[in-house]
Parts: sequence; C-alpha cells; structure tokens
Amino acid sequence: MTIPAAFIGHGSPMNALEVNRFTTMWSEFAQSMERPRAILAISAHWFINATAVTSQSRPRIIHDFYGFPQELSQFEYPVDGSPDLAKQVAELVEPTWVGLDQDSWGIDHGTWSVLAHAFPSADVPVVQLAIDANKPLAYHLELGSKLAPLMDDGVWIMASGNVVHNLRAIDWNNPEGGFDWAQRFDDDARQLMLETPAELGALQESDDWRLAVPTTDHFLPLAYIAGIAAASGKSTDVLIDGCTMGSLSMTAYGVGINHAA
Ligand code: ZN
Repeated sequence: MTIPAAFIGHGSPMNALEVNRFTTMWSEFAQSMERPRAILAISAHWFINATAVTSQSRPRIIHDFYGFPQELSQFEYPVDGSPDLAKQVAELVEPTWVGLDQDSWGIDHGTWSVLAHAFPSADVPVVQLAIDANKPLAYHLELGSKLAPLMDDGVWIMASGNVVHNLRAIDWNNPEGGFDWAQRFDDDARQLMLETPAELGALQESDDWRLAVPTTDHFLPLAYIAGIAAASGKSTDVLIDGCTMGSLSMTAYGVGINHAA
C-alpha cells in the first residue's frame, strides 16, 4: 500500500481546538487513506542546528507558544513514539547524519494541531524530524527524496508549515484573504509543486520571497514534500488552498493520492 505524503498549512495553534474548512480537510484526508503504521512528522517548530528525529517510546507534548487560552497550553495528545521508525529513518538517509533524540524535543503544535483532527484517537505512533536551520533548501529537498520509500512502507509523511508565513504582516481584519504578494507567492509555489517540484528552490529568486518567507522555518517543510514528489514520480494534488489574515497561506498538498480508487 502507498500512503500519500502531505504538506499541511497549519496556521494558528488554535486550529487544534477549532473546526473550520482547513481542519475538516485534515480530518477527511486522513480518513481517505489506508491506516498508516506510523507517522513521520516534519514540523516548522523543531528548527534547530542539526538533523534529528525523536526516538522516545513516549514523546512528550510540547506547548511552544504563548498568549493562547489555557485549554491550548494544557492540550495533550497522548501518543506513542516509534524508536524503530526513528532508527529506520536514520539508516534510510545515510550518509546524512540523523541524531536520535531522547530528551530535547517531543511532539510540538505544528504536529499535534494537525493530528488532533487527522488522528484524534492518537493511536498511530509519531516520530518528528527536526529541520536543520543551517542547511540550504537543496539539502531539505534531497533529504525529502530519500524519505520517499517510506510512503510504500506504511508511513504517513506529514510536513507541517505554511508556504507563506509572515507574522509581522498579519492583518487581523482579513481572516479569509491574503495580500497580493502572499497570493502571488502561493500561486507560484503551487505551479512548481504541481509541475516541477524538484525546482522548488526557484522561489528563492522571487521578488516576494522576503515578505512571504521572512524566516525559512515554516517554508522548509514544503521542500520535503517537493523532494518526495520529485523522487517518487507520484503526482501532486492541491488538497485545499487559500490565505488567511493577509500573510498566511493555508495551502496543502498531497503526493501519491490514488485517483483510481
Ligand atoms: Zn507554526
């Protein structure tokens, strides 16, 4: 069986608690695929100076945000880890070195805000992959391409970020729309993802790059899914699209969805 890989635009941590058209899609997407044996989550919020995977058998839940309601600060997603998958990932991407993390991280809200909808019972083990902040986009594309075989091995690769993510430019009065530059960048990203995912790096030359991607943490998860799309040769679909609050894109992609079904 093939589990389609996905890039999810996660947006606000509040999406963990809310139900809207995006969270409904996350839930429906998960229900539409065969049940994975494990989830490899690539979250914008584990952005460190190394490539690593969580390898605890019971990862802790991390509340890496401030200023949200207590219900969110106490949110729990009691899920198992998978030391076996962590080891498998490290072996799969050799000679790239992947640290097996035991105590520095766990499951952060980039992952659990999505999984709260996709797998609300928290009954599929989760491993998180850290994004190495020191590495260029090409490194993340290549690492993604090396992870592609996991799709055919029962693992849901779920990258969670936002194609456009500029918190300084947030427009609270525009909950359902995007600035022209945000929409334009999101459209450019869509064209590359659907047609030539291996060339995702071309976006770095866009005039809108600096505004859309002021820091690369939320963008780079997309590079993993682009790498998977390029390496697997499987087609890419837009699962949902649209900007919120001016400067956030919630666009999501799926790779390897079986349309014949
Ligand atoms: Zn985020």
